[in-house]
Amino acid sequence: MIWNFKWIILKKVNQTVPKFNDRVGYKLKTKNKIDILQLNITRTCNLSCKHCHLSCNPNRREDMSLDVAKKCVELLKSYNFSTVDITGGAPEMSGVFKYLVEEASKLNKNVMIRSNLTIYNKEDYKDIPQFLRNHKVDIIASLPFYEREKTDKVRGLGVFEDSIRILKILNELDYGKDYDLNLNLVYNPSGAMIPQSEEELEQVYRVKLKEDYGIIFNDLFAITNSPIGNFGKWLDKSRNLDRYMNRLYNSFNDEVIEEVMCRSTLSVDYDGTIHDCDFNLSLGLGIKGKNKTIFDITVNDLENRPIVTANHCYSCTAGAGSS
Ligand code: SF4
Ligand code: SF4
Repeated sequence: MIWNFKWIILKKVNQTVPKFNDRVGYKLKTKNKIDILQLNITRTCNLSCKHCHLSCNPNRREDMSLDVAKKCVELLKSYNFSTVDITGGAPEMSGVFKYLVEEASKLNKNVMIRSNLTIYNKEDYKDIPQFLRNHKVDIIASLPFYEREKTDKVRGLGVFEDSIRILKILNELDYGKDYDLNLNLVYNPSGAMIPQSEEELEQVYRVKLKEDYGIIFNDLFAITNSPIGNFGKWLDKSRNLDRYMNRLYNSFNDEVIEEVMCRSTLSVDYDGTIHDCDFNLSLGLGIKGKNKTIFDITVNDLENRPIVTANHCYSCTAGAGSS
């Protein structure tokens, strides 16, 4: 059911505006050096957000096996990635989460996790903030807005308060204060909009969170929602898909092409399949070439690799760029 829906939305996304590759003018390839190994280790999440491009929720059970996790660590040892980006779902809910953080830390990689924060309110996960601190893991935390109403609209009732409580705990652990304990926030628009200026938003977040809650953080990333997953479904149902795709297309900025995530990333799904980015992963679009899983990929498959693109890529090139 999820599979059918994914392809129906992608077909519509591809039909609404001219082809991404034609707009770019050439076929995208990865850089000579791949910096980031991104690991999408679970589809389970304690939340079920409207904009989730992976349609994660508490009922999903897909989780990375220890076999796949060990192969990821082997790849980390054989290729000089600088960063390991651990995501999900709520990655903390995966059985291999702590194993991967510990192994990547031993290899002196910069480890970062994408967190929805609220998971740390649950009894089984209350130890995680201290665990992250011990391993100096960078936290990229979703906070769709600096006010309750808009955040709860996107993520569910009570999520804003739950997030604020955890941000305070992270500050108490020196996250956002100590130079090697980075706490970065992520803003997502709540409708069929493209984010306003990242610098302006960051300034407003900084002032509001400090004044209202005494919270500090390092940087804010403004992410344009990809027209796939739950958000694509909502765009289609609310008849906003054409308008949104045209907004993305009309905001195309060729200056950000060099920096889109796929040019320096390899993304591994929980089942060991390999993708150019988290969005392609969500659509089930594997990398080009014959080696398509963590069990058969070699370091020769990483650099100067042609990237699989489609019109969902316009969300990475709109305005100041986002991925
Ligand atoms: S957007 Fe993040 S927090 Fe929300 S359901 Fe998806 S994985 Fe969970
Ligand atoms: S969606 Fe993925 S493949 Fe397309 S431009 Fe963005 S990062 Fe690259």
